[in-house]
This record gives sequence, C-alpha cells and structure tokens, in this order.
Amino acid sequence: MVRVYFGDVLGNYGFGQDHPFGSDRIHAFWTETLKQGLDKKVDIGIPSICTKSDLTRFHTQHYVDKVYQLSKNGEGYLDNGDTPAFKGVFEAASYVVGSDLDGLNTVIHGDHPRVFVPIAGLHHASRNSAAGFCVFNDAGILIETLRQKFGIKRVAYVDIDAHHGDGVYYAFENDPDVIFADIHEDGRYLYPGTGWKHETGKGLALDTKLNIPLLPDSGDDSFFRAWPEIEEFIRAGKPEIILFQAGADSIKGDPITHLSFSPNAHRHATKRLCSIADEFCQGRIIAMGGGGYNRNNLALAWNAVIEAMLGV
Ligand SMILES: [Zn+2]
Repeated sequence: MVRVYFGDVLGNYGFGQDHPFGSDRIHAFWTETLKQGLDKKVDIGIPSICTKSDLTRFHTQHYVDKVYQLSKNGEGYLDNGDTPAFKGVFEAASYVVGSDLDGLNTVIHGDHPRVFVPIAGLHHASRNSAAGFCVFNDAGILIETLRQKFGIKRVAYVDIDAHHGDGVYYAFENDPDVIFADIHEDGRYLYPGTGWKHETGKGLALDTKLNIPLLPDSGDDSFFRAWPEIEEFIRAGKPEIILFQAGADSIKGDPITHLSFSPNAHRHATKRLCSIADEFCQGRIIAMGGGGYNRNNLALAWNAVIEAMLGV
C-alpha cells in the first residue's frame, strides 16, 4: 500500500502568488493525480502538524525560536535574503514536517511501507538557518527522528532534484551511517554551488557520500548513464530505510534550472529504490516532492513517483 499526503494546509507553505515556490504547486500536483485516477489507488494521508521538540531534533532552538517570532508578523528574512518570512510560515513549515513524521510512523509500523509527501524535501535548510526557499529541513528531521525515536541508524538519502541537497549533505558529512547519493546540476551553474565529485564525506564517513554533478542541458541519457552507480552505492550501504527527494526541477523546461530530464527519470529512480527498499529495508521508503517550478513538470513527475510506488 502507498500513502500520499494531500491537503490545503500543505499549500500554505508557499511564498506568494508570483513566487516560483507558490501555494498553487500542491493543486497542480493533485489535479493531475485526480485526472489519472491515482487518488483511488492510494491511501490519502491527512497532513498533520509537528511540535517544536520534533524540530529541535535537527534544528537549533535559537533558529526554531527565530522562525516562530518572524512568523507572527511575516516580515524579514529567515536567511540572508533568499527565504522571506510570511505570516504563518512557522505553522505552514510545521505541517510539512508533521506530514513527513506521520508518514514515518506509518512506514515504521508497517501499515504503508511506501509514502509520498508532495511539498517536502526542503533540502537546503541547515541546522541553524533557512536557505533557498527551505525553512525546516524535513529530511534532516526524519533522519534525526529515526535515530532518536526509533533506534534506526542506517539511512539512505537519494536526491534527484536539480539543486544539490547541501542542507542534508553538510549536516551529515561526518556521519558514516547516512548513505547519501545526489545527482544534480553542476554547482558552477546553479545554486547552491556545492556538490562536487570530491565531496565524499569526512573522517569516519569518508566514501559514504556520492555527488554526481551534471552539466546544464543534461537529459535522460546522462541520468540513465549515471543511475547504476547510485543504485550500486545505495545497495552497498545496506540501509534500513530510504529517503528519496524527487525534485521535479531537474525536468526540461523548469524556469530556474537547466537540466533536461523527463519524468521517466523520476519513475525509474522510484521503481529501483522501491526494489532496494524491499531487499534491505522491509520495504520502507519515504519520497518527498522537493523542488519543481514548472507546474506541469511537477504534476507529471510526482505522479510518476506514485505510479512507480504502486508498481503500475
Ligand atoms: Zn531544486
């Protein structure tokens, strides 16, 4: 069984009508889900809100308090000028994290080993700051929650968003039990400017991280050529659960990036990761929507993820 989270509250995480990360993204996704009839094949999860102590498993108390304060009036920035505060941003971001955590519960208890949370995978936020439209790093919170609450240490994180998942990478750069694989647009051409091939982890965690930067305009041929290395890397890491950031901004026609994948990349990655999850992780996989600013692309890519999870 597959659970997919949907609800208007997830749309509250958005930075205004004309912003690439607008509130309409969730509806663009769901309209396509209805059109394809996938809503009838999945269990629809109701978004839920997390607590402050969920957030501080990953983030500093100081940063969580700052977001809470700025959320009251919705003025100012949560970082150095990329990520504006808006009224209610604290609650909106807490619904994203809460939905992930609810999904994690259902995955751990075996009710639905495969879960998709569309407006999640906010992979740029660091422990003490927002970054690149990302307020709370829900993937980082999932990893810390797995350790602190469920005693699960060995986590695979796979990221096919056009942007490098720097917030996850640097938070766990020294952690040998986070098996990290990220294929993204080369940092010389795109924010955040990181994710070099030589960034493979540090200290005890050396060689537990894989970064694959691609040149602008790279398409499915580049993705499918690179994919077996990711798969082999994750398999060798023998994870207990897989977290998958399925950002749709790596698809051709995104307004703010320059990769040229098709949704087949997302479909294939999901299918293969589900198979690895079945082999090593008792089926446990949580997919997060990530970026994607061309509405049609995100609708097709995220529904391809769901289809692949359903085994269609
Ligand atoms: Zn992105």
